[in-house]
Amino acid sequence: MPTPSLTFRGESMRRIYLDHAAAMPVDPRVLEFAERYLQRDFGNPSSLYSVGLEAKRAIEDARKKVAELINAEKETCIVFTSGATESNNLAIKGTALRNIGKGKKVAASAIEHMSVLNPLKELQKRGFELTNIPVDSTGIVDTEKLNDILTKDTTVTSIMYANNEIGTIEPIKEISEIVHENGLYLHVDATAAAGRIPIDVQNEGIDLLTLSSNDIYGPQGAGALYIKPGVRLQSILPGGGQERGLRSGTENVFAIAGMGEAARIAKAEMVQECKRLKGIRDDLIVEMLKIDESYLTGHPTQRLPHHASFRFSRIEGESILLNMDMMYNIQVSTGSACTSRTLEPSHVLLAIGLKHEEAHGSMVITLGRSNAFEEIPIITKAVKETVQRLRELSPL
Ligand code: PMP
Repeated sequence: MPTPSLTFRGESMRRIYLDHAAAMPVDPRVLEFAERYLQRDFGNPSSLYSVGLEAKRAIEDARKKVAELINAEKETCIVFTSGATESNNLAIKGTALRNIGKGKKVAASAIEHMSVLNPLKELQKRGFELTNIPVDSTGIVDTEKLNDILTKDTTVTSIMYANNEIGTIEPIKEISEIVHENGLYLHVDATAAAGRIPIDVQNEGIDLLTLSSNDIYGPQGAGALYIKPGVRLQSILPGGGQERGLRSGTENVFAIAGMGEAARIAKAEMVQECKRLKGIRDDLIVEMLKIDESYLTGHPTQRLPHHASFRFSRIEGESILLNMDMMYNIQVSTGSACTSRTLEPSHVLLAIGLKHEEAHGSMVITLGRSNAFEEIPIITKAVKETVQRLRELSPL
């Protein structure tokens, strides 16, 4: 993929993009596949003439490819949405409200994304009881506490497949057994994990699963919710009745068709690509931990293969991010893109037990298809120089 360059002191610097958890370039193969739905086969999928039927066919084709990525029972288990935030809202509010007769308790891990935590808080304002499930210092959900907390009237428990900020992968199968012994439905936000590691909703006992198109190199503006056969939801977006009446609104055919193709490519290339990225990632971790007072955050082994997250004492993550961008044309993150514009420390880092001042020095690297082994020494040098420079300036 083309990587634009920046000129610094007369030298051209190729961009090294290391924030694939925040946004991804659309894979050129996806763009080539889906482009026709912008201008040629642009019809409304609900229209009965040929150009509409063509669009409808594209959506059903995408539904099949997305279902295959996660081994869903059948295509009809997949409902397309506008993205992960909407899928999380539909899963949580839709299920809790439809099953209100069975109970008014909901639960989630303390490290969920805001698009899970905020809909839950909304339910809390409407009289639901919300319980946060703690995690250990590596980000793994405390399954004993989960066992204690859940009761038969806990209708929705939401635990993410893997965390976007610290990379930790949760023991979903074990969690699913606990949820089904004690409560009702398990919702899993797989935005950070899908397309990176294999997911099997049937084998892992998942009732609802959130996916995002852009997080698998598809276009922005599409997402999906897997709904296990038999699980009943209330629509949170009433209208023309598209997507089995669960998500009204004319479908974003280009983005949905692109998401389908992105899912197909991710499934076909996952094993090989994950191995390649894990190799780069492991070398980067070794190099970063050579820096004085640097620490890995998240789980040392149970983590996403493309994900490396650190904290450096006595400096601010925002300064690292800006320095790396301006001085080296390297883009890293300091946590969740959605909340990093606030100066509040990340709720994820606080939940794993870091102090406020420790949580402020975080740097997150998420690798992708454009990254290569040759970049390791460039990234390492840039981070080492940045940390040293910032520490020299630091009053702490
Ligand atoms: N869940 C997780 C784990 C995420 O990382 C994100 C952000 N990529 C979201 C949900 C929300 O995604 P979006 O902003 O695309 O709706």
